[in-house]
Amino acid sequence: MSRIRGKDTLPEILVRKRLFSCGWRFRVCDKRFKGKPDIVIPKAKTIIDIRGCFWHRHGCKDSTMPKSNIAFWMEKWSKNVKRDHRNEAAWREAGWNLIIVWQCALEGAKTERTLERICANVESWAAECEAGRIRRIPHRMEVPRTVK
Ligand SMILES: [Zn+2]
Repeated sequence: MSRIRGKDTLPEILVRKRLFSCGWRFRVCDKRFKGKPDIVIPKAKTIIDIRGCFWHRHGCKDSTMPKSNIAFWMEKWSKNVKRDHRNEAAWREAGWNLIIVWQCALEGAKTERTLERICANVESWAAECEAGRIRRIPHRMEVPRTVK
């Protein structure tokens, strides 16, 4: 549930296009998982969650504060953030690696570097799966990290 608005947001399309061109096949909004994650790559046992900075409160400059209806927004954000945490916990408990991509990592000059990092991680995690190496704690990557 990382919809910014509507179904196919630009950040999601960017990530999907790059994964596809790197040869990865994936499922989109997979209902079999809690929270219907944006992208599921079975071969790398990896879930990619793309989050809008405003809706999911990244804490960066894009997490702006509206001028009115503050109580309404606070409640909405709190629900989103709690849901993100619950989903993440469920995915990791089931042993899935996780890549959280904040929208601001896919803007302007940062975009290319972010897409490269995503593909590099998927590649190395898929190699681990292929080799049958089971991790006790799944991998987790977040770009960029949440600003506290
Ligand atoms: Zn951000």
